[in-house]
Amino acid sequence: MANFKTHLNGAFAVSGVLSLISYKAGLLDNHEFLICVAIGTVGGLLPDIDSDNSTPIKLGFDAASLMVAFILVIHWRSSLSLLSLFALWLSAYGIMRYGVFSLFTKLTVHRGIIHSVPYMAILSLGLVCINFYLLGTPTITSWFYGLFLFIGAMVHLGLDEAYSVDLLNRRLKRSSGTAMKFYQHKQQPYYMVLYALLATLLFIAPPFAPLWNHLTDPITWFLLKKGLLPQEFFSQLISIL
Ligand SMILES: [Zn+2]
Repeated sequence: MANFKTHLNGAFAVSGVLSLISYKAGLLDNHEFLICVAIGTVGGLLPDIDSDNSTPIKLGFDAASLMVAFILVIHWRSSLSLLSLFALWLSAYGIMRYGVFSLFTKLTVHRGIIHSVPYMAILSLGLVCINFYLLGTPTITSWFYGLFLFIGAMVHLGLDEAYSVDLLNRRLKRSSGTAMKFYQHKQQPYYMVLYALLATLLFIAPPFAPLWNHLTDPITWFLLKKGLLPQEFFSQLISIL
């Protein structure tokens, strides 16, 4: 059944294999390879993020809040006193966990617009733009991150479609429609906003051509073919981990 564990394993397996292939083809370096696996796995959990009654999602919110708190503390470790760091950690965690995420779950309905292809495309393109414009990540790497998030999310929607169950393993009614959702008439205004946002992001996103040229370059795949021995694959993976 496509429960939390299936989503986690499915997204991890697909993004693991795809990023390993990209890594072996020389498209990703050691760090980028691991980041792609992580992003793909997160993408596989993302469509259910608006589900209020799911323990795994609550755990995910906890983990994300903790991570934000720790990142802030690490960022300001040299300029703040121990006491202020502690206060920063506590308030960052509190605001994220009981402010941002609580508000988020109140505003959304499970299997609403978040559980759809255009919403996931927006998040993926958003990740590309944040990486490229704010973090100074190279074009190709930014696109890789966005693509992996999208692939993970599509694995999730595909699994839901295949199993037609919700997070609590209940069989869904036929009326709930398809999991691989592009549009729903009763939520027309929301979808119009989504597609407008998607078009805007496509317009401002960095050029896709550099990645496309790399992917369609026969040299890339020739190198991969030369080095693609199963035992090498695994020893490489172990040496990185
Ligand atoms: Zn789902």
